[in-house]
Amino acid sequence: MLAIGGLEKTYDGFAFGPADLTVADEVLCVLGPSGSGKTTLLSLVAGIVEPDRGSITLDGRSLVGRPVEDRRTGIVFQDGALFPHMTARENVAYAADDPDRIDELAALLAVRDVLDRRPAALSGGERQRVALARTLAADPDAVLLDEPLSSLDAPIRRRLRSDLRGLLDSLDVPVVYVTHDQRTATALGDRIAVFRDGRVEQAGTPAEVLDRPASRFVARFTGTENVFEATAAGDGGGGLVLRVGGATLRTTASGPTEGTVTACVRPSRVRLYGADESVERSENALVGTVERWLNEGTEYRVVVSLDDGPSTLVASVRPDRFERLATAPDARVRAGVPPAAVHVIR
Ligand code: ATP
Repeated sequence: MLAIGGLEKTYDGFAFGPADLTVADEVLCVLGPSGSGKTTLLSLVAGIVEPDRGSITLDGRSLVGRPVEDRRTGIVFQDGALFPHMTARENVAYAADDPDRIDELAALLAVRDVLDRRPAALSGGERQRVALARTLAADPDAVLLDEPLSSLDAPIRRRLRSDLRGLLDSLDVPVVYVTHDQRTATALGDRIAVFRDGRVEQAGTPAEVLDRPASRFVARFTGTENVFEATAAGDGGGGLVLRVGGATLRTTASGPTEGTVTACVRPSRVRLYGADESVERSENALVGTVERWLNEGTEYRVVVSLDDGPSTLVASVRPDRFERLATAPDARVRAGVPPAAVHVIR
């Protein structure tokens, strides 16, 4: 178990913390915009930077004040940083003497065929996997990863992401994985901690953070594009009823039945229907005009300008559904929003 408590570090112009986090034998993905303190967290745990205040313990022993090499934490940086004059095998062997372990890790990370090359003769993805093998070879008590997939192109990143999931799960040590990519965080994290301005804004399972963001910032940063100011207008029996502009939205949320709240709906939860189709009775029906759309590869992102209610609504639509809808700009459409898909932030 890795535990940090009241951890603080101030640089000129940036304050990290106070931050409290615990990481069991699981993957904690640290998600946040550039400059939010993600790397600072790893540097504090690894001992590259000492905190001004607070505690860091790993399996019960305090790490604060200990030199880097005594902490038994393994860190992998974005660029992989291998010794350039050594082959990949020598780089990994630097951390582990047992040749069986080197071959086992090389096989796991699919770099067995390139072990006799020097870093200059490896691709970026191979370099990062060798760097990860070198870190794991030392058998660390905690693994700290700083955007290890960021410099890879999308197909390799997707493949490595799914390989990494199995590998990280099998380690049985706390893993802290820094990323600014929400997809990587949800794919790899048992839990996610969202950082903002040096503080933990929300920590929870991917489902908790994505479906029940604690703030507008978390909602927007994790891909909830539909964030509206709404007025609570009583309880409709099944949950809170909201007014958003001229529209009424039924929700399954509980909360104050008057006053201003924030309503969030993920684009993937909005269903689009043609103008002549009827919206399912269970859903909130909103009518509007297609403003624009974007083909994002696996789905279409459609922006609908609504007649009433929040001015625009973003829906992500599967290609087969998109093709059946007349979604040319200016097409009239109906949007269905299930009450359970409306998350309310007080
Ligand atoms: P990115 O995603 O861009 O890597 P990050 O979330 O990892 O960002 P950090 O690298 O932790 O952010 O940096 C947080 C802030 O602390 C930044 O404003 C940075 O300029 C500042 N900072 C980091 N290290 C130092 C340092 N050694 N001295 C002074 N300021 C620093």
